[in-house]
Amino acid sequence: NKTDNQMLVIFGASGDLTARKLVPALFNLYQGRHLPENFTVLGVSRSDLTDDDFRKKVVGQSKYLEENIKESDAAFIDRFAEKLFYEDLGKEYDTSYENLRKRIFDLDKAHGTGGNVIFYLSTPPSLYEIIAKNLADQGLNEEKRGWKRLIVEKPFGYSLASAKALNEGLHRYFKESQIYRIDHYLGKETVQNLLVTRFANSIFEPLWNRNYIHHVEITNAESGGVEKRGGYYDKSGALRDMFQNHLLQIVSLVIMEPPIGAGPDEIRNEKVKALKSLRIMRDDETLHNNTIKAQYIASVINGEKIKGYRDEEGVDPESNTETYAAIKFFVDNWRWADVPFYVRTAKRMPTKVTEVVIHFKSPHHQIFKDSGMNNKDNKLIIRIQPDEGILIKFGVKVPGQGFKVERANLDFYYSSLVENHVMEAYERLLLDAMQGDATLYARADEVEAAWEFVDPILDYWKNNKDVKTYGYSAGVWGPTNADELIEGLGMWRNPSEN
Ligand code: NAP
Repeated sequence: NKTDNQMLVIFGASGDLTARKLVPALFNLYQGRHLPENFTVLGVSRSDLTDDDFRKKVVGQSKYLEENIKESDAAFIDRFAEKLFYEDLGKEYDTSYENLRKRIFDLDKAHGTGGNVIFYLSTPPSLYEIIAKNLADQGLNEEKRGWKRLIVEKPFGYSLASAKALNEGLHRYFKESQIYRIDHYLGKETVQNLLVTRFANSIFEPLWNRNYIHHVEITNAESGGVEKRGGYYDKSGALRDMFQNHLLQIVSLVIMEPPIGAGPDEIRNEKVKALKSLRIMRDDETLHNNTIKAQYIASVINGEKIKGYRDEEGVDPESNTETYAAIKFFVDNWRWADVPFYVRTAKRMPTKVTEVVIHFKSPHHQIFKDSGMNNKDNKLIIRIQPDEGILIKFGVKVPGQGFKVERANLDFYYSSLVENHVMEAYERLLLDAMQGDATLYARADEVEAAWEFVDPILDYWKNNKDVKTYGYSAGVWGPTNADELIEGLGMWRNPSEN
Protein backbone atom coordinates (compact mmCIF):
# COMPACT_ATOMS: atom_id res chain seq x y z
CA ASN A 1 0.00 0.00 0.00
CA LYS A 2 1.05 3.57 -0.63
CA THR A 3 1.94 5.80 2.32
CA ASP A 4 1.56 9.49 1.43
CA ASN A 5 3.94 12.10 2.78
CA GLN A 6 2.35 13.28 6.01
CA MET A 7 2.52 14.78 9.47
CA LEU A 8 1.41 13.08 12.69
CA VAL A 9 0.21 15.49 15.37
CA ILE A 10 0.05 13.78 18.77
CA PHE A 11 -2.06 15.43 21.48
CA GLY A 12 -0.85 14.26 24.88
CA ALA A 13 2.75 14.09 23.71
CA SER A 14 4.18 14.54 27.20
CA GLY A 15 2.18 11.52 28.41
CA ASP A 16 2.91 7.88 29.10
CA LEU A 17 1.38 6.36 25.95
CA THR A 18 3.39 8.58 23.62
CA ALA A 19 6.70 7.58 25.19
CA ARG A 20 5.83 3.94 25.86
CA LYS A 21 3.98 2.93 22.69
CA LEU A 22 3.60 5.57 20.00
CA VAL A 23 7.17 6.76 19.52
CA PRO A 24 8.66 3.22 19.76
CA ALA A 25 6.09 2.08 17.16
CA LEU A 26 7.08 4.98 14.89
CA PHE A 27 10.74 4.14 15.39
CA ASN A 28 10.10 0.53 14.37
CA LEU A 29 8.31 1.75 11.25
CA TYR A 30 11.31 3.97 10.52
CA GLN A 31 13.69 1.02 11.00
CA GLY A 32 11.53 -1.11 8.74
CA ARG A 33 11.62 1.66 6.08
CA HIS A 34 7.84 2.01 6.24
CA LEU A 35 7.69 5.77 6.84
CA PRO A 36 7.17 7.97 3.78
CA GLU A 37 9.99 10.08 2.41
CA ASN A 38 8.61 13.26 3.99
CA PHE A 39 7.31 12.61 7.47
CA THR A 40 7.19 14.68 10.66
CA VAL A 41 5.74 14.23 14.10
CA LEU A 42 4.45 17.22 16.04
CA GLY A 43 3.97 16.49 19.73
CA VAL A 44 1.40 18.71 21.44
CA SER A 45 0.53 19.17 25.11
CA ARG A 46 0.60 21.86 27.79
CA SER A 47 4.02 21.05 29.26
CA ASP A 48 6.74 23.55 28.65
CA LEU A 49 9.09 21.57 26.38
CA THR A 50 11.27 22.55 23.44
CA ASP A 51 11.71 20.37 20.33
CA ASP A 52 14.97 19.25 21.84
CA ASP A 53 13.47 18.41 25.25
CA PHE A 54 10.80 16.34 23.52
CA ARG A 55 13.36 14.47 21.39
CA LYS A 56 15.43 13.72 24.49
CA LYS A 57 12.38 12.55 26.44
CA VAL A 58 10.96 10.17 23.85
CA VAL A 59 14.10 9.19 21.92
CA GLY A 60 17.50 10.06 23.39
CA GLN A 61 16.76 9.22 27.01
CA SER A 62 13.81 6.90 26.54
CA LYS A 63 14.05 3.49 28.17
CA TYR A 64 11.20 2.32 25.95
CA LEU A 65 13.03 3.00 22.72
CA GLU A 66 16.21 1.28 23.82
CA GLU A 67 14.55 -2.15 23.65
CA ASN A 68 13.55 -1.56 20.03
CA ILE A 69 16.80 -0.36 18.58
CA LYS A 70 18.22 -2.77 16.02
CA GLU A 71 20.53 -0.29 14.31
CA SER A 72 22.51 1.33 17.06
CA ASP A 73 24.16 3.73 14.62
CA ALA A 74 23.80 7.09 16.42
CA ALA A 75 23.40 9.07 13.19
CA PHE A 76 20.49 6.85 12.14
CA ILE A 77 18.72 7.43 15.46
CA ASP A 78 19.43 11.16 15.25
CA ARG A 79 17.84 11.31 11.82
CA PHE A 80 14.70 9.79 13.35
CA ALA A 81 14.76 12.25 16.27
CA GLU A 82 15.04 15.15 13.81
CA LYS A 83 11.61 14.26 12.45
CA LEU A 84 10.12 15.08 15.87
CA PHE A 85 8.89 18.55 16.92
CA TYR A 86 6.95 19.88 19.87
CA GLU A 87 4.33 22.59 20.34
CA ASP A 88 3.46 23.85 23.79
CA LEU A 89 -0.28 24.53 23.86
CA GLY A 90 -0.02 26.43 27.12
CA LYS A 91 -3.23 27.23 28.92
CA GLU A 92 -4.60 29.84 26.54
CA TYR A 93 -6.88 27.82 24.30
CA ASP A 94 -7.91 30.56 21.88
CA THR A 95 -4.49 31.73 20.89
CA SER A 96 -2.82 28.37 21.32
CA TYR A 97 -4.83 26.65 18.58
CA GLU A 98 -4.11 29.54 16.26
CA ASN A 99 -0.43 29.08 17.01
CA LEU A 100 -0.80 25.36 16.46
CA ARG A 101 -2.32 25.97 13.02
CA LYS A 102 0.59 28.22 12.09
CA ARG A 103 3.11 25.68 13.35
CA ILE A 104 1.47 22.89 11.33
CA PHE A 105 1.44 25.12 8.27
CA ASP A 106 5.14 26.05 8.66
CA LEU A 107 6.28 22.47 9.27
CA ASP A 108 4.21 21.25 6.35
CA LYS A 109 5.81 23.81 4.07
CA ALA A 110 9.33 23.17 5.31
CA HIS A 111 9.11 19.36 5.11
CA GLY A 112 6.81 18.82 2.14
CA THR A 113 4.15 16.75 3.90
CA GLY A 114 1.51 17.78 1.36
CA GLY A 115 -1.11 19.02 3.81
CA ASN A 116 -1.81 15.44 4.97
CA VAL A 117 -2.25 15.32 8.73
CA ILE A 118 -3.21 12.67 11.28
CA PHE A 119 -4.30 14.06 14.65
CA TYR A 120 -3.76 11.43 17.34
CA LEU A 121 -5.76 12.08 20.53
CA SER A 122 -3.83 10.58 23.44
CA THR A 123 -5.14 12.91 26.15
CA PRO A 124 -7.72 12.30 28.85
CA PRO A 125 -10.91 11.27 26.96
CA SER A 126 -12.85 14.26 28.34
CA LEU A 127 -10.85 16.40 25.88
CA TYR A 128 -11.51 14.45 22.66
CA GLU A 129 -14.49 16.49 21.55
CA ILE A 130 -13.02 19.83 22.63
CA ILE A 131 -9.84 19.17 20.69
CA ALA A 132 -11.86 18.16 17.61
CA LYS A 133 -13.82 21.42 17.91
CA ASN A 134 -10.70 23.55 18.36
CA LEU A 135 -9.13 21.91 15.29
CA ALA A 136 -12.27 22.52 13.25
CA ASP A 137 -12.39 26.17 14.38
CA GLN A 138 -8.97 26.54 12.77
CA GLY A 139 -10.11 24.77 9.61
CA LEU A 140 -7.81 21.87 10.41
CA ASN A 141 -10.53 19.31 9.62
CA GLU A 142 -10.81 20.51 6.02
CA GLU A 143 -9.42 18.42 3.21
CA LYS A 144 -8.94 21.15 0.60
CA ARG A 145 -5.22 20.53 0.47
CA GLY A 146 -4.28 17.03 1.65
CA TRP A 147 -6.35 14.68 3.81
CA LYS A 148 -7.03 14.97 7.57
CA ARG A 149 -7.57 12.01 9.89
CA LEU A 150 -8.34 11.71 13.58
CA ILE A 151 -7.18 8.74 15.70
CA VAL A 152 -9.03 8.43 19.01
CA GLU A 153 -7.62 6.44 21.93
CA LYS A 154 -9.61 4.27 24.29
CA PRO A 155 -11.77 4.45 26.32
CA PHE A 156 -14.44 5.42 23.82
CA GLY A 157 -17.25 6.38 26.15
CA TYR A 158 -18.17 5.23 29.63
CA SER A 159 -21.62 3.95 28.73
CA LEU A 160 -23.89 3.75 25.69
CA ALA A 161 -25.12 7.30 26.22
CA SER A 162 -21.64 8.80 26.57
CA ALA A 163 -20.31 6.82 23.56
CA LYS A 164 -23.24 8.10 21.47
CA ALA A 165 -22.64 11.65 22.68
CA LEU A 166 -18.93 11.36 21.80
CA ASN A 167 -19.74 10.00 18.34
CA GLU A 168 -22.18 12.86 17.78
CA GLY A 169 -19.64 15.35 19.09
CA LEU A 170 -16.85 14.11 16.82
CA HIS A 171 -19.19 13.88 13.82
CA ARG A 172 -19.92 17.59 14.20
CA TYR A 173 -16.33 18.32 13.18
CA PHE A 174 -15.02 15.23 11.36
CA LYS A 175 -16.66 12.82 8.92
CA GLU A 176 -16.87 9.17 9.98
CA SER A 177 -14.45 8.29 7.19
CA GLN A 178 -11.87 10.58 8.86
CA ILE A 179 -12.22 8.98 12.33
CA TYR A 180 -10.10 6.01 13.48
CA ARG A 181 -11.11 4.57 16.89
CA ILE A 182 -8.20 2.52 18.11
CA ASP A 183 -8.54 -0.86 19.80
CA HIS A 184 -5.02 -2.19 20.10
CA TYR A 185 -6.28 -5.78 20.32
CA LEU A 186 -7.20 -5.53 16.65
CA GLY A 187 -3.56 -4.74 15.93
CA LYS A 188 -2.46 -8.10 17.28
CA GLU A 189 -1.48 -10.65 14.64
CA THR A 190 -3.34 -13.47 16.35
CA VAL A 191 -6.57 -11.50 16.52
CA GLN A 192 -6.34 -10.81 12.79
CA ASN A 193 -5.48 -14.46 12.30
CA LEU A 194 -8.96 -15.36 13.54
CA LEU A 195 -10.22 -14.07 10.19
CA VAL A 196 -7.62 -16.03 8.26
CA THR A 197 -8.20 -19.24 10.22
CA ARG A 198 -11.90 -19.02 9.50
CA PHE A 199 -12.03 -17.67 5.98
CA ALA A 200 -8.80 -18.75 4.26
CA ASN A 201 -9.26 -22.42 5.15
CA SER A 202 -11.96 -24.81 4.09
CA ILE A 203 -11.62 -27.21 7.01
CA PHE A 204 -12.85 -25.04 9.90
CA GLU A 205 -15.77 -23.03 8.57
CA PRO A 206 -18.07 -26.01 7.83
CA LEU A 207 -17.83 -26.88 11.55
CA TRP A 208 -18.13 -23.29 12.77
CA ASN A 209 -21.76 -23.37 13.89
CA ARG A 210 -24.31 -24.73 16.34
CA ASN A 211 -24.32 -28.17 14.68
CA TYR A 212 -20.77 -28.91 15.77
CA ILE A 213 -19.82 -26.38 18.43
CA HIS A 214 -20.94 -27.09 21.96
CA HIS A 215 -19.79 -23.88 23.58
CA VAL A 216 -17.17 -21.15 23.27
CA GLU A 217 -14.93 -19.99 26.07
CA ILE A 218 -12.79 -16.86 26.02
CA THR A 219 -10.32 -16.01 28.75
CA ASN A 220 -8.36 -12.83 29.19
CA ALA A 221 -6.15 -13.07 32.27
CA GLU A 222 -3.52 -10.70 33.57
CA SER A 223 -1.15 -11.73 36.31
CA GLY A 224 -0.54 -8.13 37.42
CA GLY A 225 -2.84 -5.95 39.52
CA VAL A 226 -3.93 -2.40 38.78
CA GLU A 227 -0.33 -1.13 39.12
CA LYS A 228 -0.30 2.68 39.09
CA ARG A 229 -3.70 2.94 37.40
CA GLY A 230 -5.76 2.45 40.60
CA GLY A 231 -7.49 5.84 40.40
CA TYR A 232 -8.48 5.37 36.76
CA TYR A 233 -9.34 1.68 37.11
CA ASP A 234 -11.58 2.15 40.13
CA LYS A 235 -13.91 4.31 38.04
CA SER A 236 -13.79 1.87 35.17
CA GLY A 237 -13.55 -1.82 36.16
CA ALA A 238 -12.89 -4.95 34.12
CA LEU A 239 -16.08 -4.80 32.09
CA ARG A 240 -15.37 -1.32 30.72
CA ASP A 241 -11.60 -1.66 30.59
CA MET A 242 -11.40 -4.99 28.73
CA PHE A 243 -14.74 -6.57 27.93
CA GLN A 244 -16.68 -3.81 26.14
CA ASN A 245 -13.83 -3.17 23.72
CA HIS A 246 -11.14 -5.84 23.33
CA LEU A 247 -13.14 -8.95 24.22
CA LEU A 248 -16.26 -8.01 22.29
CA GLN A 249 -14.01 -7.28 19.31
CA ILE A 250 -12.67 -10.83 19.59
CA VAL A 251 -16.21 -12.18 20.03
CA SER A 252 -17.33 -10.37 16.88
CA LEU A 253 -14.52 -11.97 14.85
CA VAL A 254 -15.38 -15.41 16.22
CA ILE A 255 -19.11 -15.17 15.47
CA MET A 256 -19.33 -12.98 12.34
CA GLU A 257 -20.61 -14.28 9.02
CA PRO A 258 -18.14 -14.52 6.12
CA PRO A 259 -17.73 -11.04 4.61
CA ILE A 260 -17.91 -10.74 0.83
CA GLY A 261 -14.38 -9.31 0.75
CA ALA A 262 -11.61 -8.07 3.03
CA GLY A 263 -12.32 -4.34 2.60
CA PRO A 264 -12.83 -2.16 5.70
CA ASP A 265 -16.58 -1.85 5.40
CA GLU A 266 -17.11 -5.38 4.18
CA ILE A 267 -15.51 -6.68 7.38
CA ARG A 268 -16.94 -4.03 9.68
CA ASN A 269 -20.49 -4.46 8.37
CA GLU A 270 -20.35 -8.11 9.37
CA LYS A 271 -18.86 -7.28 12.77
CA VAL A 272 -21.66 -4.83 13.51
CA LYS A 273 -24.25 -7.40 12.44
CA ALA A 274 -22.56 -9.92 14.76
CA LEU A 275 -22.54 -7.55 17.74
CA LYS A 276 -26.19 -6.71 17.12
CA SER A 277 -27.06 -10.39 17.37
CA LEU A 278 -25.78 -10.70 20.96
CA ARG A 279 -28.77 -11.39 23.19
CA ILE A 280 -29.06 -8.39 25.46
CA MET A 281 -29.80 -9.33 29.07
CA ARG A 282 -32.56 -7.12 30.34
CA ASP A 283 -34.24 -8.68 33.35
CA ASP A 284 -32.67 -9.01 36.77
CA GLU A 285 -32.99 -12.77 36.91
CA THR A 286 -31.10 -13.28 33.65
CA LEU A 287 -28.46 -10.78 34.73
CA HIS A 288 -28.15 -12.48 38.10
CA ASN A 289 -27.76 -15.95 36.57
CA ASN A 290 -25.32 -15.01 33.84
CA THR A 291 -22.90 -12.47 35.25
CA ILE A 292 -20.30 -12.65 38.02
CA LYS A 293 -18.11 -9.88 39.39
CA ALA A 294 -15.30 -10.17 41.87
CA GLN A 295 -12.24 -8.45 43.31
CA TYR A 296 -8.82 -9.82 44.21
CA ILE A 297 -7.99 -9.96 47.89
CA ALA A 298 -4.60 -9.96 49.58
CA SER A 299 -2.51 -13.07 49.23
CA VAL A 300 1.04 -14.38 49.33
CA ILE A 301 2.48 -15.60 46.03
CA ASN A 302 5.90 -17.27 46.08
CA GLY A 303 6.63 -15.69 49.43
CA GLU A 304 5.69 -12.22 48.15
CA LYS A 305 2.85 -10.36 49.85
CA ILE A 306 0.30 -9.15 47.31
CA LYS A 307 -2.05 -6.30 48.20
CA GLY A 308 -5.78 -6.73 47.91
CA TYR A 309 -7.54 -4.51 45.35
CA ARG A 310 -9.12 -2.27 47.99
CA ASP A 311 -5.68 -1.53 49.44
CA GLU A 312 -4.23 -0.40 46.12
CA GLU A 313 -3.22 3.23 45.71
CA GLY A 314 -6.02 5.39 44.32
CA VAL A 315 -8.72 2.76 45.06
CA ASP A 316 -11.65 3.49 47.37
CA PRO A 317 -11.25 1.17 50.42
CA GLU A 318 -14.96 0.34 50.08
CA SER A 319 -14.87 -0.01 46.33
CA ASN A 320 -17.12 -2.54 44.58
CA THR A 321 -15.38 -2.15 41.23
CA GLU A 322 -14.75 -5.53 39.62
CA THR A 323 -11.27 -6.78 38.79
CA TYR A 324 -12.87 -10.03 37.59
CA ALA A 325 -15.88 -10.34 35.33
CA ALA A 326 -17.37 -13.50 33.87
CA ILE A 327 -20.33 -13.33 31.51
CA LYS A 328 -22.39 -16.09 29.93
CA PHE A 329 -24.42 -15.10 26.90
CA PHE A 330 -26.10 -16.31 23.72
CA VAL A 331 -26.01 -15.13 20.14
CA ASP A 332 -29.43 -14.91 18.55
CA ASN A 333 -28.90 -15.86 14.95
CA TRP A 334 -29.12 -18.87 12.64
CA ARG A 335 -25.51 -19.93 13.12
CA TRP A 336 -25.25 -19.71 16.90
CA ALA A 337 -28.73 -20.36 18.33
CA ASP A 338 -28.46 -22.05 21.77
CA VAL A 339 -24.64 -22.13 21.84
CA PRO A 340 -23.50 -20.63 25.14
CA PHE A 341 -20.55 -18.25 25.21
CA TYR A 342 -18.47 -17.86 28.38
CA VAL A 343 -16.16 -14.89 28.56
CA ARG A 344 -14.04 -13.90 31.54
CA THR A 345 -11.48 -11.19 32.11
CA ALA A 346 -9.50 -10.56 35.25
CA LYS A 347 -6.45 -9.22 36.99
CA ARG A 348 -4.17 -11.07 39.43
CA MET A 349 -4.66 -14.44 37.78
CA PRO A 350 -2.05 -17.24 37.98
CA THR A 351 -0.70 -16.31 34.56
CA LYS A 352 -1.05 -13.79 31.74
CA VAL A 353 -3.00 -15.28 28.87
CA THR A 354 -5.67 -14.49 26.30
CA GLU A 355 -7.25 -17.40 24.44
CA VAL A 356 -10.36 -18.42 22.56
CA VAL A 357 -11.45 -22.02 23.03
CA ILE A 358 -13.95 -23.60 20.65
CA HIS A 359 -15.36 -26.70 22.36
CA PHE A 360 -16.82 -29.12 19.84
CA LYS A 361 -19.71 -31.48 20.48
CA SER A 362 -19.02 -35.15 21.03
CA PRO A 363 -19.54 -37.57 18.15
CA HIS A 364 -23.23 -38.34 17.60
CA HIS A 365 -22.67 -42.02 18.21
CA GLN A 366 -19.89 -43.11 20.50
CA ILE A 367 -18.44 -46.50 19.65
CA PHE A 368 -15.43 -46.28 21.95
CA LYS A 369 -17.57 -45.98 25.05
CA ASP A 370 -14.93 -46.98 27.55
CA SER A 371 -12.19 -45.26 25.65
CA GLY A 372 -11.23 -42.70 28.27
CA MET A 373 -12.11 -39.78 25.95
CA ASN A 374 -14.71 -37.47 27.40
CA ASN A 375 -17.41 -35.50 25.74
CA LYS A 376 -16.25 -32.30 24.16
CA ASP A 377 -12.64 -33.35 24.07
CA ASN A 378 -12.19 -31.84 20.62
CA LYS A 379 -11.09 -28.30 21.15
CA LEU A 380 -9.65 -25.63 18.94
CA ILE A 381 -7.61 -23.21 21.01
CA ILE A 382 -6.59 -19.90 19.54
CA ARG A 383 -3.90 -18.41 21.72
CA ILE A 384 -3.89 -14.63 21.36
CA GLN A 385 -1.06 -14.06 23.86
CA PRO A 386 1.55 -15.14 24.93
CA ASP A 387 2.86 -18.19 22.93
CA GLU A 388 0.67 -16.98 20.06
CA GLY A 389 -0.61 -19.90 18.05
CA ILE A 390 -3.30 -22.47 17.40
CA LEU A 391 -3.83 -25.83 19.06
CA ILE A 392 -6.22 -28.60 18.07
CA LYS A 393 -7.00 -31.28 20.60
CA PHE A 394 -8.14 -34.60 19.26
CA GLY A 395 -8.25 -38.28 20.20
CA VAL A 396 -5.67 -40.87 19.14
CA LYS A 397 -5.51 -44.56 19.83
CA VAL A 398 -3.19 -45.69 22.54
CA PRO A 399 -1.01 -48.44 21.03
CA GLY A 400 -1.91 -51.90 22.26
CA GLN A 401 -4.95 -54.06 22.62
CA GLY A 402 -8.48 -52.61 22.59
CA PHE A 403 -9.41 -49.03 21.81
CA LYS A 404 -8.16 -46.84 24.54
CA VAL A 405 -8.16 -43.23 23.30
CA GLU A 406 -5.84 -40.52 24.45
CA ARG A 407 -5.80 -36.83 23.79
CA ALA A 408 -3.15 -35.44 21.45
CA ASN A 409 -2.32 -31.95 20.18
CA LEU A 410 -1.79 -30.57 16.72
CA ASP A 411 -0.15 -27.25 17.24
CA PHE A 412 1.21 -24.23 15.45
CA TYR A 413 3.15 -21.43 17.12
CA TYR A 414 3.76 -18.04 15.54
CA SER A 415 7.30 -18.08 16.91
CA SER A 416 8.05 -20.78 14.32
CA LEU A 417 7.66 -18.14 11.58
CA VAL A 418 10.95 -16.62 12.66
CA GLU A 419 11.76 -14.99 9.36
CA ASN A 420 8.84 -12.58 9.76
CA HIS A 421 9.09 -9.54 12.00
CA VAL A 422 5.81 -9.55 13.95
CA MET A 423 4.66 -5.94 14.05
CA GLU A 424 3.64 -4.59 17.43
CA ALA A 425 -0.06 -3.70 17.59
CA TYR A 426 0.54 0.08 17.61
CA GLU A 427 3.01 -0.23 14.76
CA ARG A 428 0.52 -2.03 12.54
CA LEU A 429 -2.36 0.26 13.46
CA LEU A 430 -0.40 3.47 12.95
CA LEU A 431 0.78 2.30 9.54
CA ASP A 432 -2.79 1.36 8.57
CA ALA A 433 -4.08 4.81 9.54
CA MET A 434 -1.22 6.43 7.64
CA GLN A 435 -2.36 4.50 4.58
CA GLY A 436 -6.04 5.29 5.17
CA ASP A 437 -7.00 1.69 5.92
CA ALA A 438 -9.63 1.62 8.69
CA THR A 439 -10.28 -2.15 8.64
CA LEU A 440 -8.74 -2.65 12.08
CA TYR A 441 -10.37 0.41 13.61
CA ALA A 442 -13.79 0.39 15.24
CA ARG A 443 -16.61 2.18 13.45
CA ALA A 444 -19.15 4.35 15.32
CA ASP A 445 -21.98 1.81 15.02
CA GLU A 446 -19.66 -1.01 16.12
CA VAL A 447 -18.70 0.77 19.34
CA GLU A 448 -22.33 1.60 20.06
CA ALA A 449 -23.48 -1.99 19.43
CA ALA A 450 -20.89 -3.21 21.95
CA TRP A 451 -22.06 -0.67 24.55
CA GLU A 452 -25.64 -1.68 23.93
CA PHE A 453 -24.81 -5.18 25.18
CA VAL A 454 -22.68 -4.05 28.13
CA ASP A 455 -24.80 -1.18 29.44
CA PRO A 456 -27.56 -3.29 31.11
CA ILE A 457 -24.92 -5.38 32.92
CA LEU A 458 -23.19 -2.26 34.24
CA ASP A 459 -26.52 -0.76 35.31
CA TYR A 460 -27.57 -3.95 37.06
CA TRP A 461 -24.25 -4.21 38.90
CA LYS A 462 -24.41 -0.59 39.93
CA ASN A 463 -28.05 -0.27 40.90
CA ASN A 464 -28.89 -3.59 42.47
CA LYS A 465 -27.86 -3.83 46.10
CA ASP A 466 -28.08 -7.64 46.01
CA VAL A 467 -25.30 -8.02 43.47
CA LYS A 468 -22.34 -9.60 45.24
CA THR A 469 -18.77 -8.60 44.60
CA TYR A 470 -17.03 -11.88 45.37
CA GLY A 471 -13.45 -12.08 46.57
CA TYR A 472 -10.69 -14.26 45.13
CA SER A 473 -7.16 -14.57 46.39
CA ALA A 474 -4.63 -12.92 44.11
CA GLY A 475 -3.03 -15.72 42.09
CA VAL A 476 -5.99 -18.09 41.68
CA TRP A 477 -8.38 -18.49 38.71
CA GLY A 478 -11.09 -16.24 40.17
CA PRO A 479 -13.91 -16.95 42.64
CA THR A 480 -15.30 -20.48 42.88
CA ASN A 481 -18.78 -18.99 42.33
CA ALA A 482 -17.81 -18.43 38.70
CA ASP A 483 -17.85 -22.21 38.23
CA GLU A 484 -21.64 -22.10 38.69
CA LEU A 485 -21.91 -20.11 35.46
CA ILE A 486 -20.33 -22.89 33.49
CA GLU A 487 -22.11 -25.63 35.46
CA GLY A 488 -22.90 -28.78 33.56
CA LEU A 489 -19.86 -28.31 31.37
CA GLY A 490 -17.25 -29.20 33.91
CA MET A 491 -15.01 -26.26 34.67
CA TRP A 492 -13.45 -23.29 33.01
CA ARG A 493 -10.44 -24.49 31.08
CA ASN A 494 -7.16 -24.02 32.89
CA PRO A 495 -5.15 -22.11 30.27
CA SER A 496 -1.89 -23.15 31.94
CA GLU A 497 -2.54 -26.71 30.69
CA ASN A 498 -1.60 -27.23 27.11
P1 NAP B 1 -1.15 10.55 30.56
O1 NAP B 1 0.21 9.99 30.81
O2 NAP B 1 -1.95 11.04 31.70
O3 NAP B 1 -1.03 11.66 29.46
C1 NAP B 1 -2.10 12.49 29.09
C2 NAP B 1 -1.52 13.59 28.24
O4 NAP B 1 -2.52 14.54 27.90
C3 NAP B 1 -0.40 14.34 28.89
O5 NAP B 1 0.63 14.45 27.93
C4 NAP B 1 -1.01 15.71 29.16
O6 NAP B 1 0.08 16.59 29.11
C5 NAP B 1 -1.93 15.83 27.98
N1 NAP B 1 -2.96 16.85 28.09
C6 NAP B 1 -3.74 17.15 29.14
N2 NAP B 1 -4.57 18.16 28.82
C7 NAP B 1 -4.29 18.49 27.54
C8 NAP B 1 -4.82 19.45 26.65
N3 NAP B 1 -5.79 20.29 27.02
N4 NAP B 1 -4.32 19.51 25.40
C9 NAP B 1 -3.34 18.68 25.01
N5 NAP B 1 -2.79 17.76 25.82
C10 NAP B 1 -3.27 17.66 27.07
O7 NAP B 1 -2.07 9.47 29.82
P2 NAP B 1 -1.61 8.28 28.87
O8 NAP B 1 -1.40 7.08 29.71
O9 NAP B 1 -0.53 8.74 27.98
O10 NAP B 1 -2.95 8.00 28.06
C11 NAP B 1 -3.41 8.86 27.06
C12 NAP B 1 -4.70 8.33 26.49
O11 NAP B 1 -4.49 7.03 25.99
C13 NAP B 1 -5.82 8.20 27.52
O12 NAP B 1 -7.04 8.45 26.89
C14 NAP B 1 -5.76 6.74 27.92
O13 NAP B 1 -7.00 6.27 28.33
C15 NAP B 1 -5.35 6.11 26.61
N6 NAP B 1 -4.65 4.83 26.78
C16 NAP B 1 -3.47 4.77 27.45
C17 NAP B 1 -2.83 3.55 27.57
C18 NAP B 1 -1.51 3.43 28.28
O14 NAP B 1 -0.98 2.32 28.28
N7 NAP B 1 -0.96 4.46 28.84
C19 NAP B 1 -3.37 2.41 27.01
C20 NAP B 1 -4.56 2.52 26.33
C21 NAP B 1 -5.18 3.74 26.21
P3 NAP B 1 0.17 18.08 29.70
O15 NAP B 1 -0.21 17.99 31.14
O16 NAP B 1 1.59 18.40 29.43
O17 NAP B 1 -0.77 18.83 28.85
